[in-house]
Amino acid sequence: MIDLKSKKPLIIAGPCSAETSEQTLQTAEKLAATGKVDIFRAGVWKPRTKPGGFEGVGIPALPWLVEVRRRTGMPVAIEVANAKHVESALAFGIDMYWIGARTTSNPFSVQEIAEALRGTEAPVLVKNPMNADVELWNGAVERLAKCNIKNLGLIHRGFSGYGSSKYRNTPMWHMALEIKKRLPELPIFCDPSHICGNRENLLEVSQQAADLNFNGIMIESHINPDAAWSDAKQQVTPEALVELLNSLIWRAEGSDSVAYQASLDELRGVIDRLDDEILRLLSKRMEAAEGIGRIKRENNVMILQSTRWNQVVQRVLARSAELGLSEDFLNILLEAIHIESINKQNHIMQQ
Ligand code: PEP
Ligand code: MN
Repeated sequence: MIDLKSKKPLIIAGPCSAETSEQTLQTAEKLAATGKVDIFRAGVWKPRTKPGGFEGVGIPALPWLVEVRRRTGMPVAIEVANAKHVESALAFGIDMYWIGARTTSNPFSVQEIAEALRGTEAPVLVKNPMNADVELWNGAVERLAKCNIKNLGLIHRGFSGYGSSKYRNTPMWHMALEIKKRLPELPIFCDPSHICGNRENLLEVSQQAADLNFNGIMIESHINPDAAWSDAKQQVTPEALVELLNSLIWRAEGSDSVAYQASLDELRGVIDRLDDEILRLLSKRMEAAEGIGRIKRENNVMILQSTRWNQVVQRVLARSAELGLSEDFLNILLEAIHIESINKQNHIMQQ
């Protein structure tokens, strides 16, 4: 049985798609020869956004994966998107499964996959859904767990967004941290390939995952990436993968060094004192907002004053560079403050 936590980092690598028996076996043999890849991945059924693209070889590719395992000893993993996929894959003894982002978004599909996989000991990894909905991600895991599937894990592959961005799928790391908080026992892997959509940022994203205590990565590697039938831009050669893995730093979760502990304790003391100060100031700010609530009530003026609020936000955002605080952070902070002020003023209006 594959124990996903037996090694950290665990490296899952292989082509986006199994295209031909030669491409699959050659890629697998090169990856195995690196000595750095623990599990071989390849897509056999490919959910494509638009029709007309390469949708995977399907069942004829399954024996290629069996051959990969026979020749290299690497366990093999594929994506399953419906019960038929599962039945075929189980018949070939595929070692591990993942549920793709498009499928996680669909509870009916997840349910039928869970039932088809009922009781399997093979690991089943659940990719985050396309949209940033942690409930949907968590829900998919629950459906599998309810079918007595115990060897579960998560894959963070980023979230689709609107407009242009540095990423193909925005990482939104806080979503990964949230699911880790909800399902602390489950190992979580980062898929930098589908986050980046290119080769240039793979190391940066993988390093961020390593620094956020991920259990490993699932990354696309192809013997001839430029000629790949799917996701050509983001795949790397097995040689480039080795280079990336050698550059990645998996830092320790802690350190016994006395000097490290002393500096850490000192800085944590500073943070606790600053948190107290911030809370005291926030409380005073709310008192002032309540004062405004009282005079609004006396003068029969409504609570929400959008023009004033826009001024508050603009004034603060104008200082973001000088303060070294990102606009994203300031927007979230101000939003939270605004909600609490309005709640306080509402309460006063009701008195
Ligand atoms: C894949 O892993 O090849 C894949 C299709 O990924 P995702 O479901 O993350 O788009
Ligand atoms: Mn892919």
